[in-house]
Amino acid sequence: MTSPIRTTCPYCGVGCGVLVNRTDQGITVSGDPDHPANFGRLCSKGSALAETIGLEGRLLTPRIAGQEAGWDEALDLVARRFAETIALHGPDSVGFYVSGQLLTEDYYAANKLMKGFIGSANIDTNSRLCMASSVAGHRRAFGSDTVPGLYEDLELADLVVLTGSNLAWCHPVLYQRLLAARSARPEMRVVVIDPRRTATCEIADLLLPIAPGSDAALFNLVLAALAERGLTDTGFLQHVTGAAAAIATASASDPALTGLDPALLAQFIDLWCGTEKVVTVYSQGINQSATGTDKVNAILNCHLATGRIGRPGMGPFSVTGQPNAMGGREVGGLANMLACHLALENPVHREAVQDFWQSPRMADAPGLKAVEMFEAVEAGKIKALWIMSTNPAMSMPQADRVARAIAACEFTVVSDVMAETDTTLLADVLLPAAAWGEKDGTVTNSERRISRQRAFRAAPGEARPDWKIISQVAERMGWGASFAWNSPSEIHAEYAALSGMAGQLGSDFDISDGPGDYETMPPTLWPQSPARRGGRFFTDGRFHTPDGKARMVPVTPAAPAPHRPGTLRLNTGRIRDHWHSMTRTGLSPRLSAHIAEPFLEVHPDDATRIGLNPAGLAQLSNGHGSAILRVLITDRVTPGQVFAPIHWSGRNAAAGRIDALVTGPTDPVSGQPALKEALVHVAPFRAA
Ligand code: SF4
Repeated sequence: MTSPIRTTCPYCGVGCGVLVNRTDQGITVSGDPDHPANFGRLCSKGSALAETIGLEGRLLTPRIAGQEAGWDEALDLVARRFAETIALHGPDSVGFYVSGQLLTEDYYAANKLMKGFIGSANIDTNSRLCMASSVAGHRRAFGSDTVPGLYEDLELADLVVLTGSNLAWCHPVLYQRLLAARSARPEMRVVVIDPRRTATCEIADLLLPIAPGSDAALFNLVLAALAERGLTDTGFLQHVTGAAAAIATASASDPALTGLDPALLAQFIDLWCGTEKVVTVYSQGINQSATGTDKVNAILNCHLATGRIGRPGMGPFSVTGQPNAMGGREVGGLANMLACHLALENPVHREAVQDFWQSPRMADAPGLKAVEMFEAVEAGKIKALWIMSTNPAMSMPQADRVARAIAACEFTVVSDVMAETDTTLLADVLLPAAAWGEKDGTVTNSERRISRQRAFRAAPGEARPDWKIISQVAERMGWGASFAWNSPSEIHAEYAALSGMAGQLGSDFDISDGPGDYETMPPTLWPQSPARRGGRFFTDGRFHTPDGKARMVPVTPAAPAPHRPGTLRLNTGRIRDHWHSMTRTGLSPRLSAHIAEPFLEVHPDDATRIGLNPAGLAQLSNGHGSAILRVLITDRVTPGQVFAPIHWSGRNAAAGRIDALVTGPTDPVSGQPALKEALVHVAPFRAA
């Protein structure tokens, strides 16, 4: 037997290390005991990786208008149509919509082509749907998008607060680590804040069934109590501005907004105020909101006011959804960012990156964020669109409308692993991409740890790595010399050199003195500067703002969402054993055995009122889409709310795309859509 290949799981942002063993019988996977994210653990999805790498459904050759084509013909067409569109309508008439599934090297190539050579910042990512509000909150408070802590802080804390996070199902190995730490340290307390009773609630010492959307009010009440009780850290506040204004605003918050029993609320506030080692973990329940950035800052305010940040067992902790959401942030793969945590709005940073790339032009203004990009497609302003490794016709808010916009776009390219997704079916040109296990690169997990993904088999058919496809289009557009990489290690070397330049401009994202040889690179935390190597941020009170101080941001909690008679509030989320649109996890019968079909959680009172029967079918509608789901009557949801998972596709005609029903606004700061805030009509389904 050959020695196992060390690689990284391609699903969630925990970023677990995986050992792949190749035997005569096939491939087996196991957790890598030496990887610091998981120490050998895997969850159900990671354990089933070997069952999901078959060729069923793979896109194996380029296609033009649905017909098989050669690579040269397809690449020539893509380059020509993009060049013609730019020549006729300008750089902002084209867009790239990319993905947290891409490896960092792929992301780097796409970002360089769009921002430095096409000269537009119209490159945004599906990570906009999952963590953009955390990015925006971090930048407002810290002056940079920097996650302060480490996974081990969850194990070292005396109080772990999980808010808007179903950690047990969405970041299972981190949850396993928390469970193990809690049984080893019985003094640890865990609070779960969620309007819905999820699997994560099983670990809770205290459960707060908060009113949807009221997280900012809750953390404001904590901040007000800290100030009232004299528990703020006056020493640390020397490194912070805005405390007085933030506390004054917080003190005006109405406890009734939280919808919590006053005794429960008091218990939580006492716990938070009375425990030094607090970690507040948050995820999509905070981020996917019209006020997500404010919610993030309300959390950060509490940690900044008490100096409970960047020290062992203390800090706010945003857990990312996708395997490389963090790598995408580092490489500047968002419409409002530059690579290596440099700022697109900073002319010195822009000029330095352009110099480094020796590029003919440089985007000088933020581009269109995800929702805006598809609105521009619909309006005919984006005339050529390249979608890489993601499925927006299913996952964007108002997905049916987005699908119609993509179908009507003058020229749409989709590079993907799978042949038939809601989005690939709409493309003019389809480009087959190499999948997990077939390509090399790096990813960064939620705690800033950069790990290698390694190939362990050849790509099937004519599939190619994304970075190669991007550089071959760039070459045909006349920029071959700047994209003449022969391997992802060459891209990584260029990226590391750029980060060294960024380091000279003050960025802590300097990986130029990194872990050495690309092939043998161990999982590596940044920062790597001698002073902060592999550690936490901000313990020293030094932030990335111009004056070096953090900002506490006054947060006025949003008013409760308006209720429209006859509607229920739809909350969406993930289930334990499926990933996104199930193109891979759907291949494993074992994973589908956990929950086999889409469902709707409805409270018994609502079910009785509406006339829904257990295991019957319900039809959801709201003028933007509709879906038919199996009824699950449960008090896991409160009256007035329903919950449905996101995974099933519109291609399962009976189910419908759940995100088609999501009409929500976007957060005005982060541009993240409110994927958990739709109002829907629910009725028993009756076949015509
Ligand atoms: Fe993969 Fe996430 Fe599961 Fe780890 S926790 S095995 S990264 S899906």
